[in-house]
Amino acid sequence: NVNRKFHPKDTVVDVAGAKIGGGNFQIIAGPCSVESREQVCQIAKDVKKSGARLYRGGAFKPRTSPYAFQGMRAEGINLLLEAKKESGLPIVTEVMDLSHLPLFEDVDVIQVGARNMQNFELLKELGHVNKPILLKRGLSSTLKELLMSAEYIMAGGNENIILCERGIRTFETATRNTLDLAAVPLLKTMTHLPIIVDPSHATGISSLVKPMAMAAAAAGADGLMIEVHNDPPHALCDGAQSLTPEEFDDVVKAVNAILPHA
Ligand code: PEP
Ligand code: MN
Repeated sequence: NVNRKFHPKDTVVDVAGAKIGGGNFQIIAGPCSVESREQVCQIAKDVKKSGARLYRGGAFKPRTSPYAFQGMRAEGINLLLEAKKESGLPIVTEVMDLSHLPLFEDVDVIQVGARNMQNFELLKELGHVNKPILLKRGLSSTLKELLMSAEYIMAGGNENIILCERGIRTFETATRNTLDLAAVPLLKTMTHLPIIVDPSHATGISSLVKPMAMAAAAAGADGLMIEVHNDPPHALCDGAQSLTPEEFDDVVKAVNAILPHA
């Protein structure tokens, strides 16, 4: 059960030694999408040097337009696994369809994106998978709905779930989404599961990532997911919100300075 009432102790999700939750804070970083071997291996090296303990990259991309870059798919997963071998960082990548699950065998954390938060058949299947799930909040989902989706996974026996606040859709269009930071301390009263914040998708604007990352750390988040690209203006997806490796390094330092025992 996801309810804090029945499980007062914080859940700590351990990804190859990188612990998330229960006072352990981790940063997941990497490009929105895997674009090439050189790109994905170079960014992994850069973010690792700055202190990221997990590496993200999309192989299957949920794009609004069917004509936009859809990701490198199976080949993207292979390249992520190469970046994992080279950097030693565990990898996080999004699954969009049940039928692709066999490709995720060597992936460390399976991400369920905002658009699939209520794909209940997918959630049920992930309940039987023996690896952590990163569950992102739906674009227009309430915290109760997010927790019920986590419950779907947990009901199948998988208790290693990391929740992610990534902004919600509001009337405001100046930012891509509206970061609901109050969700962090409120979720902590409702559930024992760790909760991380994605300031990249929450804002859509790279200059807002640092202040929102710091605010998330101050609000008690258990970690961050941040998009980093070697050449943001030419990124195939989400360049406007992507940090350069240098900017990412600066954000990590700023976040570490406000963490409880940094
Ligand atoms: C992502 O993390 O690559 C992504 C697509 O995010 P979201 O599902 O939060 O939009
Ligand atoms: Mn993205």
